[in-house]
Amino acid sequence: MKSRTKVVVIGGGIAGCSTLYHLTREGWNDVVLVERNELTSGTTWHSAAQVTNFGMNQTMVGLKSHSIRLYKELAENPDYPINYHHGDGGIRMANTEAQMQGYRHFASMARGMDVHFEVIDADECARRHPLVSTENLLGGLWDPLDGDIDPAQLCQALAFHARKAGAEVYRNTPVTALTQHRDDTWTVHTEHGDIDCDIVVNACGYRVNEVAAMMQVHHPVASMEHQYFLTEDIPEIVQAGHRMPLIRCPISDYYCRQEKNGLLIGFYEQGCKTWGMDGIDPNFVNALCPDDLDRITDVLEGAFARMPALMEAGIRSVINGPITYTIDGAPLVGPIPGKRNAFCIIGLRAGLGEGGGHGWLLAQQIVHGEACYDTWCLDPRRFTGHANVELTSLKAIEDYQNEFRFHFPHEHRPAGRPAKTTPLTPVLAAEGAEFTVVNGWERVDYIKPRADFHPSLSFDFDEAFDLVKREVENVRDNVGLCEVNGFNRFEITGADRHAFLDRLACGTVPKRDGRVGLGYLLNHHGRIKCEATFANLPAGDRGPARVWYGSAAASEFHDMDWLTAHLRDGEDVAIRSLTNEQTILVLAGPNARQVLSACARGDWSKETFPWLSVRECFIGFAPATVMSVSFSGELAYEIHVPNASLYAAYLAIREAGKPFNLSLFGARAVESMRMEKGFFHWKADLLTEFDPFETGLDRFVKLSKGDFVGKSALEALAARGAARKMVTLHVDTARAPAPGGASLMLGGKVVGTITSGDWGHRVGMNLAYAFVDTDQAEAGTRMQLDLCGDLTNATVIPASPYDPEFSRLRS
Ligand SMILES: Cc1cc2nc3c(=O)[nH]c(=O)nc-3n(C[C@H](O)[C@H](O)[C@H](O)COP(=O)(O)OP(=O)(O)OC[C@H]3O[C@@H](n4cnc5c(N)ncnc54)[C@H](O)[C@@H]3O)c2cc1C
Repeated sequence: MKSRTKVVVIGGGIAGCSTLYHLTREGWNDVVLVERNELTSGTTWHSAAQVTNFGMNQTMVGLKSHSIRLYKELAENPDYPINYHHGDGGIRMANTEAQMQGYRHFASMARGMDVHFEVIDADECARRHPLVSTENLLGGLWDPLDGDIDPAQLCQALAFHARKAGAEVYRNTPVTALTQHRDDTWTVHTEHGDIDCDIVVNACGYRVNEVAAMMQVHHPVASMEHQYFLTEDIPEIVQAGHRMPLIRCPISDYYCRQEKNGLLIGFYEQGCKTWGMDGIDPNFVNALCPDDLDRITDVLEGAFARMPALMEAGIRSVINGPITYTIDGAPLVGPIPGKRNAFCIIGLRAGLGEGGGHGWLLAQQIVHGEACYDTWCLDPRRFTGHANVELTSLKAIEDYQNEFRFHFPHEHRPAGRPAKTTPLTPVLAAEGAEFTVVNGWERVDYIKPRADFHPSLSFDFDEAFDLVKREVENVRDNVGLCEVNGFNRFEITGADRHAFLDRLACGTVPKRDGRVGLGYLLNHHGRIKCEATFANLPAGDRGPARVWYGSAAASEFHDMDWLTAHLRDGEDVAIRSLTNEQTILVLAGPNARQVLSACARGDWSKETFPWLSVRECFIGFAPATVMSVSFSGELAYEIHVPNASLYAAYLAIREAGKPFNLSLFGARAVESMRMEKGFFHWKADLLTEFDPFETGLDRFVKLSKGDFVGKSALEALAARGAARKMVTLHVDTARAPAPGGASLMLGGKVVGTITSGDWGHRVGMNLAYAFVDTDQAEAGTRMQLDLCGDLTNATVIPASPYDPEFSRLRS
């Protein structure tokens, strides 16, 4: 066994084997995998091992495409051939129009990744799968590349090729402890000796938290028991003369695929069970949970009704094993929050299909610092302090019960709520607030007209449309108040704070006390990493001179990792998170100044407190920090208040607002207004796949300043010229907003991808942002949006169609 290597991957299931393999493909050959037992002896060996191309966003579709390509390549490699049923095809069923509409959207989104799904009707489903009854079936989504693979052979093949490239695999070698050294390298202690290494990867499946504890962290991963059974031969399958396509059925919560001349059928029963919550028997190796067919009788009946031939089929064997889940159903693949040189690839609930792609994206992150796709949807830092196994288990149960039912736009399911609130949450609920969830925070979406107001789940504009319109109109004409909780905020102190930020931001960082600026931090590839507001607060009774660094609600762990990774030895900089201590009240509209003046002493005139100013004050008697910044495009103030005095500040503002027609507004109104202003959302529009020039942020880049992270890469990118450009589009329909991921077409070719879309209530237009091919980026260019299957005209328009001179927010 080696005593030193570059990377130690812990765990020899699909996650670990794929990571090891891809590290060698990225050129790192001095890498090792350690496995406590034999390869695949966790969950992987008994997986149903279906390999679909279907995903909810382009990153997921792209990584699954990689799996499929790789598995095909491996299967055909004579050095170590494996069994892979590639391209049997698969149907995801639907019995509601809304589901069919969703499938049309996912087909539009996948087309942008060169993946071609088909939405088919019920008769076509039955034609392609002869065992299927069309009773209560509208149709489904056809995935032509769906198939299944032998999971053990797959892992052995990955290990074989990795070994051939120089990697080493140590079986029957449990990791017993981990030590991190002062230079951030690690020692991995095993039952057979120690291995020093630069980087560790936790790929330990359902034992993830045993190894996490060795590095003093805890991952939000919970396991569920999951069952499938294998049937005896079914005559209809023998007679069909072709392999059966796979089925995934959200109507009756089951899936199936062909296994020999019978079926493998798996179930997602409502009375499901978590597993291993109080620890896992160390001897649970190559093991299964006891069969429990009684638990699945509810879903079994649905499967019988859909496939009557099943009623006659005998059961050959039952498999019941643990499967891991996270809070939002997607795995945790990337850097471990708060740790250096530590990565994980965990929480895989469809790890066989996805594992090839996850290992690929993780290896890229380890070797190059970033992957070819934006990996935020997989990033372990996307959940912050609220994320724990208890909460995850509630979401896991909910997810399991809804396994094949995708989330609609604006859909937030009830489990694990409320996770994060402020003192205002019950107050706003009493005012009729409907809440959306942002990284666990309950945030006002809009104010409901009555308690039983429940808009339908749809990709179309829903019944809240007119409510949002009225909220926007009152912000435009009078003044509105909105709580923005969970917004990330770091306090950065120390004499070197500006030099430090200057080294990270690609543009100018304001240095004068009382001034605010927006800035972008790039990765080493010159592409967008973080977006932040910098506010300079002078020394005073509330603290020393400091910068408040504000960024998106879910960015706390991500941005903290990035900032602290760039601190230099001896640099006088301290960073402290205030995210959970303070909340923002946004006051926006032409009457905002009068309302603020009525509840806070001092001169708030345009001359003394112009746009992009910051000042400490009291709202009534509540301490607050006010910034004149605007995401709505109206005159606006962000009022940052410690949570302890949030209610007091709220009461003071509401009282002061009475003569000025102040009303509440929520996140949906904000979304509409920011679209009219050309303002972006981090991780919807601001992605690691694009540089600031491609994103239209030229005015925030200053190449003439000194060096900054990503500068030389950005210069190289700029010299090469952009392949895609961010544009604003007018979408020619009032039926539905353009959903993120949807494809823009020209002459039958995909020329762009939507990042955000919403109705602009002040301009009366359906607006969208999209990255399009550079030659399609001129204002006036017309193309067609594949809007849930309907080709809809879309025209490039100049950014910021509402108040393009930005005069209202400076007024
Ligand atoms: C019944 C069932 C059906 C499924 N069907 C499908 C399907 O159709 N398609 C699909 O894509 N997915 C499916 N899955 C999910 C899929 O099987 C898993 O996502 C995948 O196998 C997880 O792989 P892994 O590598 O993350 O974990 P594991 O396979 O559990 O591997 C983790 C490894 O880490 C090792 N390890 C743990 N602790 C240590 C330590 N201290 N030191 C060294 N090694 C350690 C373990 O021994 C183990 O080998 C199914 C799961 C189940 C239960």
